[in-house]
Amino acid sequence: MPAGTVEDRSLARNYDVGVTIPQQRPIADRCPGLLAPHEAEDGLLVRLRIPGGQTSVAALTELSRVARTFGQDDLQLTSRGNIQIRGLDRRDLEPLSNAVAAAGFLPSASHERVRNIVASPLTGLAGGTEDARPLVAALDQALCAEDRLAALPGRFLFAVDDGRGDVTSLSFDLGVQILDRDRALILVGGPRTGFQVAAGQTVQTVLALARRFVQLRAGVPRPPWHVREVDLIALDPRVGPVEATQGRAQPRLGRIEDAASVQVPLSLLTPEQVSAVAEVGSGPVVVTPWRGLVVAGAGDQLSKLTAAGLLADDTSAWSGITACTGSPGCARSRIDTRQLGTELGRLLHTGSPRVHLVGCERRCGAPSEAHVDLVAPVSAVAALRQISTARDLR
Ligand code: SF4
Repeated sequence: MPAGTVEDRSLARNYDVGVTIPQQRPIADRCPGLLAPHEAEDGLLVRLRIPGGQTSVAALTELSRVARTFGQDDLQLTSRGNIQIRGLDRRDLEPLSNAVAAAGFLPSASHERVRNIVASPLTGLAGGTEDARPLVAALDQALCAEDRLAALPGRFLFAVDDGRGDVTSLSFDLGVQILDRDRALILVGGPRTGFQVAAGQTVQTVLALARRFVQLRAGVPRPPWHVREVDLIALDPRVGPVEATQGRAQPRLGRIEDAASVQVPLSLLTPEQVSAVAEVGSGPVVVTPWRGLVVAGAGDQLSKLTAAGLLADDTSAWSGITACTGSPGCARSRIDTRQLGTELGRLLHTGSPRVHLVGCERRCGAPSEAHVDLVAPVSAVAALRQISTARDLR
């Protein structure tokens, strides 16, 4: 058996041959959380899970204040709609955790790293088959109520799609796509495998699958991190081919009914941008898995958000640039991705392909959409050359 091949028969998927767990993958789960900080080059980093990206202007404002008090000023948005605070000192972890918990971001200390739920960002605000927010809240609550599910890997991702087919484009482990008021598709390992259930059984079915996944991991020397690495039939014999609706992934930028949809340049949300959000909104804010924000009720005040540097134009070159953390935050990085990304934002023109700028071959945080990977270009000119000669989008 080749190195890295899953040894336990229960971990061999029925559909594909040769399921492997990457050898280079560390066995320990080092996904950071609020109570499990990561030591980065620029200090400690904590990651806060925001199920469905659903938060509020008040909570976001408080989080920005906490970041300014204890760490770097900017809040860093992740590709799963979570938020990171960087540049922390170990001595400040306790007051920081208390402040973050008081702002409502730590309902469960034991399950904080497994509350990874992405959901359609516009759900309940515009479009979609049904408002998925109650389902996200119910799933989160039930997940946190079950002790053994705290053993899920920190990378395990739940996706709740309100029928429009946006988050089903992401790489998720277990998903739900609402079909109508009475029925939902349970998606297992991707948008093309799963089964249908009555709407009332959704949460219990997803959690039963998650429980079974935890069982399959137990006692395995190199445990799987993702559902696609296990036998889907062993998770539930009902799993078979399905076809989930696939629609536009990232919500378009600009005004969408009463909401404002904006992107955060290079994923760093500044205190000034949070103040602008507080000026135009007072209720729900959604952090999207595409490093954007949807501000409820602020559709007619986009100009105040763009004045603070947020992007509301899908066609601007800026909105197509993403970057990994890079130097000085990441020891592996060969370049300062933020600085180069800012230069590129000035140089690229409308209609340029989407680009993802990274400091090394790991390519962290790559967007799910087609893009050109820029791996540690030595200058903006070198990056432009790479873009102009790129034939294949990833
Ligand atoms: S891609 Fe490389 S440089 Fe960028 S954050 Fe990941 S490990 Fe660090």
